[in-house]
Amino acid sequence: MQVSYQRRSTVTAYVGHVPVGGDHPIVVQSMTNTDTRDVAGTVEQVATLARAGSEIVRITVNDAGAAKAVPEIRARLDDLGVTAPLVGDFHYNGHILLREYPDAAAALAKYRINPGNVGAGKHHDTNFATMIEVAMAFDRPVRIGVNWGSLDQALLTSLMDENGRRAEPLPAREVMIEAMLRSALDSAELAERLGLPHGHIILSAKVSNARDLWDVYRRLAVRCDYPLHLGLTEAGMGIKGAVSSTAGLAVLLAEGIGDTIRVSLTPDPGAPREREVEIAQEVLQALDLRRFAPSVTACPGCGRTTSTLFQEMARDIQAYLKAQMPQWKERYPGVEDLKVAVMGCIVNGPGESKHADIGISLPGTGESPKAPVYRDGAFVTTLQGDAIVSEFNRMLDEYVEARFGGAAGGGRERSRERVPLPTTSGGS
Ligand code: SF4
Repeated sequence: MQVSYQRRSTVTAYVGHVPVGGDHPIVVQSMTNTDTRDVAGTVEQVATLARAGSEIVRITVNDAGAAKAVPEIRARLDDLGVTAPLVGDFHYNGHILLREYPDAAAALAKYRINPGNVGAGKHHDTNFATMIEVAMAFDRPVRIGVNWGSLDQALLTSLMDENGRRAEPLPAREVMIEAMLRSALDSAELAERLGLPHGHIILSAKVSNARDLWDVYRRLAVRCDYPLHLGLTEAGMGIKGAVSSTAGLAVLLAEGIGDTIRVSLTPDPGAPREREVEIAQEVLQALDLRRFAPSVTACPGCGRTTSTLFQEMARDIQAYLKAQMPQWKERYPGVEDLKVAVMGCIVNGPGESKHADIGISLPGTGESPKAPVYRDGAFVTTLQGDAIVSEFNRMLDEYVEARFGGAAGGGRERSRERVPLPTTSGGS
């Protein structure tokens, strides 16, 4: 597979203050699973998702109660200082809700329209046109979001009939893919004919497995220059959902396809909704497309780490980094570029530590309970005793302050430089 990272879309659509497409960073988005009529619950979940890093949050607007709640949700989020734009997800009755609740239309930064769910027959185009007219009246972009599970049946039937008349009919899967593309592209063309600017359109065509997703989006990227919203639909639960989404997204992103992503994870009962945001960020960070938090290189452990000491220490150091990030992000621009190594023994520990900005090799089984620390590729000290983790965390603080602190605005530039060797601290 050729890895290009060259972005395919050349158009930028603005979702509120968030640019999507062109050379802009790939945007992470998510969706609530609260009843939108529950204003307090929805505000709380949007705020949680936004604080976890969701730059756009979609909410369902499925009935009059939900539409009435939208302006209040936006107002309360503004009061909390949560600026993430809200996107309204419309199916079946979006033309009615957007027309009858202009305050909701105004409070939303984008409307998601599913061309398979805007009405059948002669109502299809008129309902679609109503939503586009509202988008134009409020100067809002739309996402034309086709979904494998709710594909425009009239279009699919027509393409299937056409295929049946061929001398050599194409496989049904090919016809399905073509129907998805045609649904998205024809709807975009109709929206533009109605007067919606080209730069107010984002497309998506979601399916539920990675190979289908690659085939759909590769073709979509060739046939248009709109920004593309990428994601598997119904990715599934837990590890399966995370891995399926990663497989689907990573290949396309590596080919330069995709301008905003969502991981549609079914949360395990009680699991935090923001897990989907964390996974989306990790995918972008693993591909070096964006950085959100310091990266931690940790070995898997092996027979040399038979006690739980290594796992506990690795966990505690990672937890410390995560806990510091909200403040570090404010105080230390560029701190997300930090690379930390937490290794289980001296076999690969010093080597990985030298590649990191700061790294520690914890003592393996049978090794002397000492932990060599490297900074900017050079050995600086050995920590030992019960306070190895707290001592290392203190060294992390010092490193971050030295490298990313200092003069206002200088942090990001300085983040590319190595820090002069410090005076040794702690240990022996
Ligand atoms: S660094 Fe050491 S503990 Fe970690 S996997 Fe390698 S040999 Fe095992």
